[in-house]
Amino acid sequence: PLSGKVALVTGSTSGIGLGIARALAEAGADIVLNGFGDAKEIEITQEQIAAGFGVRANYSPADMTSPDSIAEMIVTTITQSGRLDILVNNAGIQHVAPLEQFPPQKWDQILAINLSSAFHTTRLALPAMRQNGFGRVINVASAHGLVASPFKAAYVAAKHGIVGLTKVTALETAEAGITCNAICPGYVYTPLVEAQIDGQAKAHGISRDQVIRDVLLAQQPSKRFASVEEIGALAVFLSSAAAASITGTALPVDGGWTAH
Ligand code: NAD
Repeated sequence: PLSGKVALVTGSTSGIGLGIARALAEAGADIVLNGFGDAKEIEITQEQIAAGFGVRANYSPADMTSPDSIAEMIVTTITQSGRLDILVNNAGIQHVAPLEQFPPQKWDQILAINLSSAFHTTRLALPAMRQNGFGRVINVASAHGLVASPFKAAYVAAKHGIVGLTKVTALETAEAGITCNAICPGYVYTPLVEAQIDGQAKAHGISRDQVIRDVLLAQQPSKRFASVEEIGALAVFLSSAAAASITGTALPVDGGWTAH
């Protein structure tokens, strides 16, 4: 359903972004990957996506803290691919500390990556989308775009911010064939999460299952992680013609977390 479309996914060298990129590629879109990581591994990922799904898979090393480097990524994408139909703003980082001890530098970095980068990619991508009369902007926010937890000041502020940016983008593009929505995952099973389980089990002296149920998924009523495939499937749906009237929303994929 997405063949002939070009999708750029920020922060797609691992985790949710990679899951979204794979799902969009499986649906037929040419992909531009972005993010940090080992050059050889990124090349292998590109080859796997290209060969596995019969699409083109390019890569941009742009740093989402740098507006100049973001501009270069968008310009290169549009010149290389001739178009940009689907923009997924996914790159994000976390830092956990009480407000009084929250390092101001971390605040600035999280706001830059988790929020401002989406402003820059979106403002630069919209002209090409308007020209084609089609566009999809998908912002990967979080349950923390809708509710808060302590010690995550910058993350929660940035994620609430990106939900606001999502609504403004939707309103300004409502008649242009463009939609903008935020996906708000609760806990998603990624290598990063897996890496925490054994450590937490040791630290608390409890089993892996208890860590998952009572520590990691304490807020998630379903007591199961969402998968990157589930997030990818939602991104594919939001990118499809069937989702043309869904815009300006913040869609929880959180096993009931924000229903509390
Ligand atoms: P991850 O650490 O696996 O992936 C983050 C990606 O962003 C990587 O590709 C990394 O290279 C890239 N990145 C980091 N800093 C960057 C920068 N300055 N410039 C360019 N790329 C950069 O994380 P993830 O869990 O897959 O998270 C992806 C998104 O999903 C984030 O926005 C995160 O807040 C959100 N999210 C994750 C979860 C979860 O449970 N994993 C839940 C809710 C929301």
